[in-house]
Amino acid sequence: MDCIFCKIIAGEIPSNKVYEDDTMLAFRDINPMAPCHVLVIPKTHIASLDEVTAENSEIIAKIFEKIPAVAKAAGVTKGYRLISNCGEDACQSVKHLHFHILGGKKLPENMA
Ligand code: 5GP
Ligand code: ZN
Repeated sequence: MDCIFCKIIAGEIPSNKVYEDDTMLAFRDINPMAPCHVLVIPKTHIASLDEVTAENSEIIAKIFEKIPAVAKAAGVTKGYRLISNCGEDACQSVKHLHFHILGGKKLPENMA
């Protein structure tokens, strides 16, 4: 499968890792939109939030359990925003489910 995030998980493309376990990988975004911009991805290929099912939702739960620790490991101290772009209107560019953790500055009040 030609998936850039699966290649990062496999170590075929280098990444600046923040956290890793059997279920997920967190690494710094190559084009940061904030002083702290980390992507958290499942190691299983799930294309987007639209592909979350009863069979794979345990993976999502495990990711959410770790988000606070990942944000802390990334250096965030005063709060963060968690975003997952899903589909065309949200401008999802990588078709492997990912959660953006944005922080390290006062973020704009408007999200869209
Ligand atoms: P999306 O627009 O799909 O929500 O977010 C995809 C994100 O992946 C973008 O913020 C983009 O900068 C990031 N990205 C794309 N390719 C790479 C890469 O090879 N390495 C890293 N670290 N981030 C990437
Ligand atoms: Zn993938």
